[in-house]
Amino acid sequence: MPNLQEIAQRIEDADAILIGASNGLSICEGLHLFAENQAFDEIFGDFKREFGIQSIIHGMLIPWSDVELKWGFWLRLIANYYLNYQPTQVMQDLKALIGNKDYFIVTSNGECHFELAGFSAEKIFEVEGNWVTLQCSNACHNTLYEGSVIFKKLCYYQDQMRVPVSEIPRCPKCGDFMVMQMGAAQKIILDVKARSRLQTFLERYHGKKLVVLELGIGWRNQLIKAPLMHLVNQEPLATYITLNKGEIYIEKFIKDKAFGLDGDLRETLAQIREILEHGNIRA
Ligand SMILES: [Zn+2]
Repeated sequence: MPNLQEIAQRIEDADAILIGASNGLSICEGLHLFAENQAFDEIFGDFKREFGIQSIIHGMLIPWSDVELKWGFWLRLIANYYLNYQPTQVMQDLKALIGNKDYFIVTSNGECHFELAGFSAEKIFEVEGNWVTLQCSNACHNTLYEGSVIFKKLCYYQDQMRVPVSEIPRCPKCGDFMVMQMGAAQKIILDVKARSRLQTFLERYHGKKLVVLELGIGWRNQLIKAPLMHLVNQEPLATYITLNKGEIYIEKFIKDKAFGLDGDLRETLAQIREILEHGNIRA
């Protein structure tokens, strides 16, 4: 097991922290996108019985032919895991770890929990979009619209399986239906402004002591994990810390400046926080 003391010291000495996060972090917060579990049955049992929807990801990706049902499924999802979200201990520990340092978050998670937990929206790049940002379903123009107010209003319909078509917002340009950015499939409009803010962050800390902290990303992930490892390879003073359960993978070319922490990342983060706050590291 790598030395947590040394890891805490690297975090304390860092000029900035770049967080990469994926599904493993969501699972730690009780959101299992891929699981056919009791929580799914309790929240989405009617969708399972009527349409054979097996998991959250199934309902997110299925090409619903009925727009009322599509909005009904997403509204149920958003009401339960976005509007009702309370920041978890793991998010509080992560904030404590970062302290007053500059940071940026790159994530494939679309549930906006970082922002809801108090991280700055300006410092988050959701590489696959998110649940509550809206766009034209036809992608006729590339503006992204904030949708949380609309979903709060639609909550009235969350126990029904449908959002009435008259309540579904329309594109201000072409009149087609609006859609959740992450539910737009191949029509998805990505947030180029957030991507460019990430680029600015990387330029600012080029050659500096950057700690890359990776949370719950599968070992084969090419979207976030692979680029993060290449970044660490190119940055002479960078440190790579990966936390995951049962799936620790570190490319050989960065092994001298990398730490892999196998196990429940909730416990690992809490331990690092404890060392930082009570281990004579952080003044
Ligand atoms: Zn349009």
